[in-house]
Amino acid sequence: MGIVLQKVDIFDTTLRDGAQAEGISFSVEDKIKIAKALDSLGIAYIEGGNPVSNPKDIEFFERAREIDFRNARLVAFGSTRRRDVLVDQDKNILSLLSAGTPAVAIFGKSWDFHVEKIIRATLDENLRMIKESVAFLKEKGKEVIFDAEHFFDGYKSNPEYALKTLEAAAEAGADCLVLCDTNGACFPHEVYDIVKTVKQAFNVKIGIHTHNDCGMAVANSIMAFEAGAEHIQGTFTGIGERCGNANLSTIIPNLQLKKKVMCIPEENLRNLTYTARKISEIANVTLNERDPYVGNSAFAHKGGMHIDGVCKDSSSFEHIDPSLVGNKRRFLMSEVAGRKTILEKIKSISPRIEKESIEAENIIQKLKELEHQGYQFEGAESSFELIVRKQLGKYKPFFELEKFQLMTEQPKSSGASASALIKVTVDGKSEITAAEGNGPVHALDKALRKALEVFYPELKHVHLTDYKVRVIDSNKATAAKVRVLIESTDGDTVWTTVGVSTDIIEASWIALVDSIEYKLLKELEKKIEVYL
Ligand SMILES: [Zn+2]
Repeated sequence: MGIVLQKVDIFDTTLRDGAQAEGISFSVEDKIKIAKALDSLGIAYIEGGNPVSNPKDIEFFERAREIDFRNARLVAFGSTRRRDVLVDQDKNILSLLSAGTPAVAIFGKSWDFHVEKIIRATLDENLRMIKESVAFLKEKGKEVIFDAEHFFDGYKSNPEYALKTLEAAAEAGADCLVLCDTNGACFPHEVYDIVKTVKQAFNVKIGIHTHNDCGMAVANSIMAFEAGAEHIQGTFTGIGERCGNANLSTIIPNLQLKKKVMCIPEENLRNLTYTARKISEIANVTLNERDPYVGNSAFAHKGGMHIDGVCKDSSSFEHIDPSLVGNKRRFLMSEVAGRKTILEKIKSISPRIEKESIEAENIIQKLKELEHQGYQFEGAESSFELIVRKQLGKYKPFFELEKFQLMTEQPKSSGASASALIKVTVDGKSEITAAEGNGPVHALDKALRKALEVFYPELKHVHLTDYKVRVIDSNKATAAKVRVLIESTDGDTVWTTVGVSTDIIEASWIALVDSIEYKLLKELEKKIEVYL
């Protein structure tokens, strides 16, 4: 890649701005997982949320204290002090301190229209609010990132005043002045000119925060960088309010590969696709297949001549080598690439299988059939392994289901809303148990494990950590299929399994059974050294 000369700070706001996107609802657990994923990618700043408004964010910051972030500085987000309140008595400002983060981001108004019409302060009072808030947080030893809200609109309306708001923050000691295109209304040339003017006027690090309302968020961030910005804010896969934020999974490779600017440690760029997909999975959103760099179609070739060209020289139809960002080239017509990947995976489970063998062919046929039904194994490697083993005859079921019955209660009175009764058989011995849960799948999971623990005590430590449902072929209305993904853990390892059916309970059952069988299989492997 050559010598990297320049560096920009990447500031991720998936957990704050991204959380405000339609259809997004992060649990604390989700937020922790995303923060860890961002940290291992090497993101410099992670904005965790607003500790004043939201009990979930308060809990997040409490739990985040126990995480040893290797790369990232955690940031709490809030606003400048309120009008007519002393800064050291402002609840919002004080809660920023209690979040216990090394850095804080505070937003202040820089558009005169907003100052006078929305928060109804005088222009001078707003400047004092900015100055006192930044100075107070600096005094407490925080790194202070000042988000100048609506800066570009403010600059266009009253440039002199917009610059004064930055001056107030800079004089009070702000470490970075972030120019925000809050309404996402700017065009790249405007961003370039305005950032350039600001850059010349201040001796402080300049940052950029853009929204995608005109489809320009990434372009605007790049132009801000060209004009001198050294701190770029955005979200993973671009989720955010309205049309979203600048997409970091596009900005990072644009800068790092094309401009030779260091955004994340060089060796981590190959984890970009994995991270984007993982965050989408946690957020329960479908990653746009056509997303630059990380989308499933980003390097998919279908036309015969394109495939031919890529085989001769990949640069004929690819702007970069997909492996640089951890993505894969796909040939849609010939499926040569897909087949190769599957064969490699099969070999990792059963090294003795030959590529051209009948066993390999049978497995590929089976997988194709399942994929046609709606299965996807990219996020469910454990189910994949079980299928390969079953096809190879290297598998013996650990139990048999006689039957289960479910009862759900609506309206919910209190406590458990569902109960399950289950009968299983292991080596000719039957066990029948019942359990209650919050919902039918929870009840079913508890009943199944309770019954099996009699035979397999190692299941005591297993529990579900995640359960996700996605409707597939949604054009079929009520007959639509659902794909259920279940993540389980025994405290040491985490594994994910998948089930597909038109019946959500059945899809969940398939994924649950896979989860338990996978655990038992791994235990058995530990006991018998060579199982294959
Ligand atoms: Zn924003």
